[in-house]
Amino acid sequence: PTDRRSWLDRLKSGLRKTGSSIAQVFTGTRIDDALYEELEAALLMADAGVAATEHLLADLKQRVKDTKATDPAAVKALLADGIAELLKPLEQSLQIGQHTPTVIMVAGVNGAGKTTTIGKLTRHLSDHGAQVLLAAADTFRAAAREQLAVWADRNRVQIVSQEGGDPAAVTFDAVTAGKARGCDVVIADTAGRLATQIHLMDELKKVKRVIGKAMDSAPHEVLLVVDGNTGQNALTQVKAFDDALGLTGLVVTKLDGTAKGGVLAAIALWSRQRGTPVPVYFIGVGEGLEDLQTFNAREFARALLE
Ligand code: GDP
Repeated sequence: PTDRRSWLDRLKSGLRKTGSSIAQVFTGTRIDDALYEELEAALLMADAGVAATEHLLADLKQRVKDTKATDPAAVKALLADGIAELLKPLEQSLQIGQHTPTVIMVAGVNGAGKTTTIGKLTRHLSDHGAQVLLAAADTFRAAAREQLAVWADRNRVQIVSQEGGDPAAVTFDAVTAGKARGCDVVIADTAGRLATQIHLMDELKKVKRVIGKAMDSAPHEVLLVVDGNTGQNALTQVKAFDDALGLTGLVVTKLDGTAKGGVLAAIALWSRQRGTPVPVYFIGVGEGLEDLQTFNAREFARALLE
């Protein structure tokens, strides 16, 4: 017997406060302006942001009109439908196997959970039979290199690392080695210091350019790891990194903690306006190697309202 709660339970308990405050809106008996006002406040409190909140409210009113719903419980179900539909384009799986190796560049501000996510992702890919090589392109922080080496060890995969080296050079070496050794996936961990934003973005752009020199069409994925607890800040980070690097996917971490979850709606609305959605390949629901789960829009919408 195991006392390890299922990931969905951990997601739900992480979102519980949000869920109960949104659910609370629908405990009355009438559908009136007060209900919509309360819902607006609850969505804003849940970090959905103004634009996504307005979008969801307008969408909900339309659904209520279309279905002629008359009781709050039915309206709540319609809200779940609206949220799930908004989030649905974010639900895509990470594809590997089209290139040898598939090169994945991972970015994110320090503390977002980048290194942990790389460890979990390595486990996930290894479990699916892929041979993974890690590149420690955050050469500046000794701790980052050491931490990545620990994850490499735990997963028994190779790592290319060089003390004080140039991030782009280390990445170039790693991709070249990955090609030569016939690896399936090369994952590059990059720096995430916040103090010198502009230099950081320049460094990351250079890493990306150099990956392209080491291998045509690479990087195949540019992932951003964001902390689900940081609310609208997470959306700001998504936009900034997308502007600089052109993101192909996201991992939203720490949704097992006290995250409010609404930021996913904000990201989804931004993604829709962007034209090509930036999918959420995975969500982080704990600190362990197994705590990386694929994102499911319907399940997430339900967890948000429970
Ligand atoms: P980095 O600076 O972005 O590389 O961040 P780390 O990978 O070092 O993670 C920062 C902290 O967040 C560590 O204590 C991790 O264990 C923790 N962490 C990362 N992902 C998750 C998650 O999904 N859930 C929880 N609860 N903690 C996480």
